Amino acid sequence: AIKLRLDKLLAHSGFGTRSEIKLLVKRGSVRVNDKPVKDSGLQVQPDKDEITVEGEAVRYREFVYLMLNKPQGVVSATEDNRDRTVLDLLDDDYAHFELFPVGRLDKDTEGLLLLTNDGKLAHNLLSPRKHVPKTYYAVVEGYVEEADAIAFRHGVELDDGYKTMPAELRILETMKPAAAGSPSESRIELTIMEGKFHQVKRMFQAVGKRVVFLKRITMGPLSLDSSLQAGRYRELTSEELQKLR
Ligand code: URA
Repeated sequence: AIKLRLDKLLAHSGFGTRSEIKLLVKRGSVRVNDKPVKDSGLQVQPDKDEITVEGEAVRYREFVYLMLNKPQGVVSATEDNRDRTVLDLLDDDYAHFELFPVGRLDKDTEGLLLLTNDGKLAHNLLSPRKHVPKTYYAVVEGYVEEADAIAFRHGVELDDGYKTMPAELRILETMKPAAAGSPSESRIELTIMEGKFHQVKRMFQAVGKRVVFLKRITMGPLSLDSSLQAGRYRELTSEELQKLR
C-alpha cells in the first residue's frame, strides 16, 4: 500500500505550501477518516484513508505524467550504481509515485523524456507495433546531403545487420569546414518510427558520419516544451495527456 505524509499529499493536491497546510491542520480543517488531525506529518494511505479539507474530499491521483528536458550526464534509469538518474532530478514530493522513464535516451542525449507510473500508457508508447514517431535534432560531423535523406528513407543497414524502417531526414543547415582539414558540420532533424539501441547515432554511422549532439524534440503527439531548461520538468497538461491516450 502507498504511504506518505499528509502534508506532502495535500501540497501535491494543490492545497498550498507546507506551511499553509500546517495552518489548515492547526485550524482543524483537515480530517482523516472523519477525525480532525493535529499533526500535518501524519502518515496516510491515500488510496484507503478518507481525507477531507474543509469538508471537501481530497481525490488521490494514482498516475503522474511528467515531461522532462533530460540534461546530458544523467541516465534514463530508475537506479544506477555510478551515475545520477533522471529520478534524481525530481522533487522529493514525487518519490512515492514510483515513476519511471518511458524509453531511454543515451547518457549524452538531451531532450524530451516522459516520466510516469502509468505502465499501460508506457507500454503503448513503446510497443514496436505502434510505430510511434520520434523526432531528434542533431549536430552531425560531416556534410549531410540529400543522398543521406534518400538512404534513410529506404532504410540503412546498421552495424548488427538490422535494416532500419523508413525515416525522414530534414537538413536544416550545413557548414563547410572552417579550415582545410577541419570537419564540416550539419544540423538536421530526423524522425524515426522505431527505437533501436543508439539508433540515430548508428544510422549516421551507417552513412559514414558521426553525431556530436543529440536531442529528442518530439515523441508521438508530445513536443518538448521549449521553455523547459535542461534538467527541468513539468506535469503534462490535460490536453497533452488526452492526445497521448
Ligand atoms: N538514438 C540514439 O542514438 N541515442 C538516443 O539517445 C536516442 C536515439
